[in-house]
Amino acid sequence: MIGGGFAGLNFIKHLDKKKFDTVLVDRNNFHSFPPLFYQIASSGLEPGGICFPFRRELRKGRAKGASFRLGEVQSINFKHKTITTQYETIGYDKLVVAAGTTNNFFGNAELVKYVYTLKSTAQAMRIRDEVLDRLERASLAPTPEERRKLLSFVVIGGGPAGVEIAGALGEMKRFIIPREYPNLSQEEVSIILLEGTSSLIGPMSKKSQEDALRYLDKLMVEVRLNNLMSKYEDNVVTLSDGSELYSEMVIWTAGVTGQPIKVSEENVMGKGYRFNVDTHNKVIGIDDVFAIGDMALMITDKYPKGHPQLAQVALQQGELLAKQLNKGSFEKDFSYKDKGTMATVGRDLAVVDLGKLHISGFPAWLMWMFIHLLSLLGMRNKISVLIDWTWAYFSYGTSLRLLLHTSRWPLRRRWGER
Ligand SMILES: Cc1cc2nc3c(=O)[nH]c(=O)nc-3n(C[C@H](O)[C@H](O)[C@H](O)COP(=O)(O)OP(=O)(O)OC[C@H]3O[C@@H](n4cnc5c(N)ncnc54)[C@H](O)[C@@H]3O)c2cc1C
Repeated sequence: MIGGGFAGLNFIKHLDKKKFDTVLVDRNNFHSFPPLFYQIASSGLEPGGICFPFRRELRKGRAKGASFRLGEVQSINFKHKTITTQYETIGYDKLVVAAGTTNNFFGNAELVKYVYTLKSTAQAMRIRDEVLDRLERASLAPTPEERRKLLSFVVIGGGPAGVEIAGALGEMKRFIIPREYPNLSQEEVSIILLEGTSSLIGPMSKKSQEDALRYLDKLMVEVRLNNLMSKYEDNVVTLSDGSELYSEMVIWTAGVTGQPIKVSEENVMGKGYRFNVDTHNKVIGIDDVFAIGDMALMITDKYPKGHPQLAQVALQQGELLAKQLNKGSFEKDFSYKDKGTMATVGRDLAVVDLGKLHISGFPAWLMWMFIHLLSLLGMRNKISVLIDWTWAYFSYGTSLRLLLHTSRWPLRRRWGER
């Protein structure tokens, strides 16, 4: 099993470990919860609240019986039935790939050096450190111009992740800065959200899109629709219409692509570097290899471009594949049950679409909190996140916002790096 995210871990939970000797390989030693990365980035939660160590998870409960090996899978050889990480090559009888996605810079690979991203706990921590560092440096800066430059944030991409991180920065601007940074004024902080299309949170209902716009306005975030970034150089964002914006901190949430794992037969990969799979998540044309979750591209009449890359799809595919492997027969086609979509912009400000039903504001926010709490792994995490959220709700605060500059010395390469 490559990847212990939503799809991979749910697959392992439903797989009969008495029948299958199961090995999970993941580049991290913990499971993480991407929908709450933005809360790590904005100091709303500590990383320990949304991550859970695999070795503990695989010791008890439904996942018990699988073993864990740390490693970032770099290549798969279908002919020899092996996968290779930076540390070792492992053989398999059956392989399930659920490595999820990474950032897509749409051909502008250089951007990775200059923009902040939100695709892992480590990237979220990097954003947090940078934001806190900028607030402190701005507090020391003698002129409004220097402060404005330090506090110029641009978020690219108006999907749920972009809306959530922009909203969280807006909450800092609105509630934290006036209280804890007396040398700064709200006018010196600019948060601009750029979206290339004419609406935010594209897949959600029109009403949710409008509510999200209104909520961001409340949180002092400027939204610019129909605006694509075409270049980012020397702290200047150039937009598709030629206009320019100054920003020292650009957060990129605009696109995703499958994890860049090399495969011995390239025709198995489809659009967005996802594995072409049939309706049983079997990789087309390759024996004994399956792909589930964000990395699977299953084309059906209902989903001609593949399923949306969402947690529910990943969970449901993981469960069905495990059950069919347990039985040894693949009778049922995968059919996605859409349980609704939601996004949160800030305190009391969320939107939920359940079929034709649209809920917004405080009730939507409560639903959002409840569902996310239930989905977290481990009772300790659920309780600690509940305490953090309750505390923040009444105190209008965030977590302790410790600025932990990582130490540079001693220099040490990670094992396996050349
Ligand atoms: C910021 C953000 C917010 C989101 N918000 C929502 C939301 O509100 N609702 C929703 O439904 N969905 C949301 N999503 C999407 C959702 O997280 C994904 O659809 C879901 O995680 C897909 O599950 P997965 O198991 O395919 O991949 P993941 O959950 O991403 O798991 C992939 C696993 O593979 C591991 N891995 C990656 N590459 C390698 C490698 N080369 N070798 C070994 N291991 C590897 C990773 O460490 C990880 O553990 C969000 C995603 C992001 C990034």
